[in-house]
Amino acid sequence: MDLKSIPTRYQTPAAAMFALLLGAAWLTAWGWKQRATDVVIERELQRSIAVATSLSNVLLPRYLDDVRRATRTPAAAVGKLDFLKALGEDVTRQVRGQRMIKVKIYDPRGVVVYSTDEREIGGDQIGNQAVQNALVGEAHAKLVRGSNSGEVVDVDDYSRDLVQAFVPANPGTTGKQDAVFEVYADVSAVMADVRQDAHTVWAVANLAGLTVFGVALMILRRAEEAQRRKDAVTGLPGREDAIKAMTELQKNHGAGEPLRVGWLIVGVQRLRQVSAAYGHRVADEVLRQAGIRLSGVRDAGLFRLGGEAFALLVVDRETTEGDEQLAERLARTVIERFESPIESDGHFIIADLAVGIALGRGRMVGPDELMNRAEVSLTEAKRQGTGHWLLYVAGLEQGVRERLQSLRGLREALEHKQFQVYYQPLVGAKTRDLVGCEALLRWKHPVKGIVLPDAFIPLLEETGLIVEVGMFVLREACRQAVVWRKEIHAAFAVSVNLSARQFADPDLLKRVRQILDETRLPADALIVEVTETFLALEPDYAASVLAELRKMGIAVAIDDFGVGYSSLSSLRRLPVDILKIDRSFVSQAPHDPVDASIAQAIAALARGLRLTLVAEGVETEAHAEFTRGIGCDKLQGFLFARPLDVKSFEAAYRPAQDVLSRSISA
Ligand code: C2E
Ligand code: CA
Ligand code: CA
Repeated sequence: MDLKSIPTRYQTPAAAMFALLLGAAWLTAWGWKQRATDVVIERELQRSIAVATSLSNVLLPRYLDDVRRATRTPAAAVGKLDFLKALGEDVTRQVRGQRMIKVKIYDPRGVVVYSTDEREIGGDQIGNQAVQNALVGEAHAKLVRGSNSGEVVDVDDYSRDLVQAFVPANPGTTGKQDAVFEVYADVSAVMADVRQDAHTVWAVANLAGLTVFGVALMILRRAEEAQRRKDAVTGLPGREDAIKAMTELQKNHGAGEPLRVGWLIVGVQRLRQVSAAYGHRVADEVLRQAGIRLSGVRDAGLFRLGGEAFALLVVDRETTEGDEQLAERLARTVIERFESPIESDGHFIIADLAVGIALGRGRMVGPDELMNRAEVSLTEAKRQGTGHWLLYVAGLEQGVRERLQSLRGLREALEHKQFQVYYQPLVGAKTRDLVGCEALLRWKHPVKGIVLPDAFIPLLEETGLIVEVGMFVLREACRQAVVWRKEIHAAFAVSVNLSARQFADPDLLKRVRQILDETRLPADALIVEVTETFLALEPDYAASVLAELRKMGIAVAIDDFGVGYSSLSSLRRLPVDILKIDRSFVSQAPHDPVDASIAQAIAALARGLRLTLVAEGVETEAHAEFTRGIGCDKLQGFLFARPLDVKSFEAAYRPAQDVLSRSISA
C-alpha cells in the first residue's frame, strides 16, 4: 500500500483551485485599477472639452468677423492680421488660473489663425485628422504625453501628462463650422495622483493576495499533514496521533488517581496472501472492515499503525482486574469479533489475528515504550500462530532480539552464498532404480557447520526471505537436473519444495517460467512439492496457481500428506499429480495397526484418484516392504540415501564412478 500517494491526491486539485482563485482575484484587482484610472482620465477629457467649449463660446462671438476675414486671407498672410494681438490678450485673460497651457484656433480651411505659440500661426493643418473631425462637428479629446516646445508651448518635458481637446465652434449657425478650438491642459498633477493611488491599491491588493496565498498554502499543508497521518484505507488516524493521545492522557492524569493505560495491537496476518490471491482491492477491503469491527471494541481510540496492524488505546480507571485478566478479556473480545469471515467482493476471508498487549500504570511507562512492548508481544504472538494473544512481560524482547540476530545471519548467508542445495534420491518401489531426487536446502554456517532447514526455514518464511531463497533453490535444482539428465538418467526429475509464503509472491509463475527458460529444463522434469496446510488455507487460490503450474507441464506433489487438515474431498478438486505419505505413517506403520490403516487408506485414495504415490522416510527394509506392499510407486529415505551434496551424489550415481555398480534404468 503506498501511503505516500494519498496527500498528493488532494494537493493537486486544491493547489489548482487556489491558483485559479488567486488568478481571478488578481485579474479583478487589475481591472479595478484600470477602471479607476480610466474614470479619472475620462473626467479630465470631458473637463478639457468643457473648458475649450466655454472658451470658444466666449471668444468666437467677439472675433467672428476677424476669423471670417482671416479665412479669406492667404495662409502665409494670416500672421500679419491686426486682431491677433487683442485676441492673444483675451485668451491669456480667459485661461489665467486654468491648467490650460496652449490654445489654438483653426479656420474652416484648417489653417491656424491663432496660437499661443506664435510660430504656428498661418500653419496649414488641413491634413490633420483630428482637426478634420472637429470641423465636421465632433468634439473630442485625448490624453497625450508632453512634447517638445515645437508642438506645445512652454512644455519641454515629455514626462508631462496633457489632455489635448478639439471642439468645433459654431455659435448659432448650422452646417459648416466657423472655427475649431484646440486646447492643451496639463493634467500631470491629477495623473500623478491617480497613478499613486492605483499603485498603492495595487500594492495592497498584491500584498493581500500574497498573504492569502501564504495562509492558504499553510492551511493546505496542515490538511495534507492531517490527511497523511490519517490512513487512506481505513480512514483511521495513525501512529503519531496514537502516541499523542496517550501522551495527553498521561499528562492529565492526577497523581493518586488509579489509571492503567496500554496498547492492544492487532496484527491481521496473511494479508499479503489475500492480496496476491484476490488483488489489492480485496485486501484493502479486509483492512477497512477489520477497522470497522475493531472500532466497536472500546470507546477509546483506534489507530492504524500501517502495514497490517491496528492499535487500540486501552484506558482503565478501575484497575480492579489484574493485568493478565484485563488483557485476556480484551484480547478475547477482539478475537471473537473476527470469528465470522469478512466478505469482500464476493470472497469470504477469515482474518488471521494475533494480538500483542502491553499495559502500564499511570505515567510509569511512556507511550512509545508501551508501543514497543506491545509490538514485541505481537511478534511473539504471531510466532505462536493464528488467534494467539500475548501480554508483554519483562524480558520478552530477548527472544525477539535473538531472532533478529539470526535473521541478520540469514541475510548474510544469502549474500555470502552460504546456502547450498542437497539432493536426496528417489527410487522406483519395485526396481529400486534411481528416478529422481528432492532438492533440500542446507545452510553451511561458517561456525556451526551444516544447519538443517527446520532451524531456519520458519524464520525465512516469517520474514519473506524465503521468496528469494526459494528461487535460488529452484534455479540450482533445475540447473543440476539438466546436467544429471545428460550424465545419469535421461528421465531424471527433480522435486523442489515451495513454501506457502512463496505463493503470496505475485510473480511466482513468471519466475518459475523464467527459470525453466534460463536453465532449459523441460517442465515435465520438474515437480513442485506443497504442503497440505497451504492448500487448506486458501484452497481456491492455491488451486488456481497449481493449475497454472500444471498447464506449464510441471507436476504437483502434496507433501507430508496425512498430517494436515485438507479434507479428502477437497483433494478431488485440486490439480495434483503426486501424494507423498508423511514420514510418520511410514515409520509407525510396520508395527502400529492404526498408522498402517491410515497409510492404506491414503494409498487407496491415491489409486482411486490415479495419483502417483510416494513414501518418504523409508529407513528400513520393513518400511520399504510395507510401502511397496500398499502400492507406493516411488520411495525416498535413508535406506537408499541421505540428502547428498552434488559431489557425493555424483560419486554415488554417475555411471563412470559407479562403484556400487547400481544399474541405471535406460
Ligand atoms: P520435507 O519436504 O518433508 O523433506 C524431507 C525431509 O525428510 C528432509 O529433511 C529429509 O532429510 C528427511 N528425510 C529423508 N529421508 C528420511 C528418512 O529416512 N528418515 C528421516 N528421519 N528423515 C528423512 P530436511 O532436509 O531436514 O528438510 C526438512 C524440511 O525442510 C523439508 O521437509 C521441507 O519441508 C523443508 N525444506 C527443505 N528444503 C527446502 C526448500 O528448499 N524450500 C522449502 N520451502 N522448504 C524446504
Ligand atoms: Ca518435500
Ligand atoms: Ca515431506
